[in-house]
Amino acid sequence: MRIEEIRGWGAKIADWAARYLSTVHERPVRSPQAPGATLKALPAAPPERGEDMEAIFADFEKIIVPGLTHWQHPRHFAYFPCNSSPPSVLAEYLTASLGVQCMLWQTSPAATELEMRVMDWLRQMLGLPEEFQGVIHDTASSATLSALLTAREKALNWRGNGQGLSGQPAVRVYCSEQAHSSIDKACWIAGIGQDNLIKLPSSGSLYGMDVAALDRAIVADRAAGHLPSAIVASVGATSVGACDGVRAICEIARRHNIHIHVDAAWAGSAMICPEFRELWDGVQLADSVVFNPHKWLLTNFDCTAFFVRDPAALVKTLGIRPEYLKTQGRDGIINYSEWSLQLGRRFRALKLWFVIRAYGLENLRNLVRDHVRWAQGLAERIKATADFELVTPPILSLFSFRYKPEGTADLDALNARLIQAINDDGRTYLTQTRFQDQFVIRFVVGQTYTTERDVTFAWEVIQEIARNIK
Ligand SMILES: *Cc1c(COP(=O)(O)O)cnc(C)c1O
Repeated sequence: MRIEEIRGWGAKIADWAARYLSTVHERPVRSPQAPGATLKALPAAPPERGEDMEAIFADFEKIIVPGLTHWQHPRHFAYFPCNSSPPSVLAEYLTASLGVQCMLWQTSPAATELEMRVMDWLRQMLGLPEEFQGVIHDTASSATLSALLTAREKALNWRGNGQGLSGQPAVRVYCSEQAHSSIDKACWIAGIGQDNLIKLPSSGSLYGMDVAALDRAIVADRAAGHLPSAIVASVGATSVGACDGVRAICEIARRHNIHIHVDAAWAGSAMICPEFRELWDGVQLADSVVFNPHKWLLTNFDCTAFFVRDPAALVKTLGIRPEYLKTQGRDGIINYSEWSLQLGRRFRALKLWFVIRAYGLENLRNLVRDHVRWAQGLAERIKATADFELVTPPILSLFSFRYKPEGTADLDALNARLIQAINDDGRTYLTQTRFQDQFVIRFVVGQTYTTERDVTFAWEVIQEIARNIK
């Protein structure tokens, strides 16, 4: 394909994208395809000779699109949202066109310096103190792993990277039972091990970690010769939005000289609204904070904001400088690959810059506020509806509920059938969780193009399907 052809095809694809996004609400949200359907439609061997873009694009429409679940559908209320928006889409096109690799300052000075600037904008947007410096990671999983590696090295006095973990005391990490599975995985990968991740019970109106139990666990571990290294505080955990008491946890962490990492992967975006910041009160005392603009801040996947109080500790953990990566004669610059796990880095700052400028803080805040308000409104209606039970009230824009008609013995099985019927129907898309050993249905508002009408329409669909279920 010649460079010139980008022009015509770029215009066609732009046209397709605009049409797709403005009509996506007509499609079933979750792909109705059976397993193996896409695979069967694809040739088993790659083509020997180049094919026409015409043919490739026709197959994209015919084979790929029907097998997609439409995350930008305005009635996608499942999992957490994974936002996109017009300025972000355009920036991604530019990023792909430039194809720059942003591992070092000199491999694209503007990319590094734009990243420094937009991360500081984000810091201000969230109300984090000036000591925090940010870096863009691919996912919260990577950021949390980076935080736990830093904590591990600090606790081992930097012996882990050099000597490995054998012969060292057990490195311990603490989190709530509500914490996301990325904490478990980070402990696996960091060589800390599942058995050294201590999960504390949660309770109260925000399902926060029992801090007295946390303190006792740390004291007992020290007495046993273990090495407490990190506490992960969750703000807006994935199941029902649990929020730990960040301030109390930070005070314990300080007292015991332990790294405190805040996982606000989803809820962090809401902190652009000052009225929600009480949910992470005390965050300014943390050592590191992660949140995903790719979840709820209109920025395409992948874009994770990772803030650290002490970049030197992060760089001491992840920075490595073989001769071929040295930046000759340049001091005081940031090489962001030393702040992250992988060496190669996409130019992700561009889409954040486009999004923040195109919307402005006022529009971004209003969007989050609308989502929270609509979730609260629907939760109230569910509470007032016979045969339905609101199980956990909204934390920001996430709540859970279940269908509970009189005289049903097995509510778990009934709700499992209900959610399957809803998702097979395709007009909306929801996912489940377990809460206090009950099967419950989650509802989370956060998609870019969702309107209040989409929220009420989804509720009409849920009731209609529930009344017909056996
Ligand atoms: C989504 C989520 C994660 C993981 O996010 P990735 O960016 O996909 O790794 C971690 N923690 C919480 C609370 C989440 O909601």
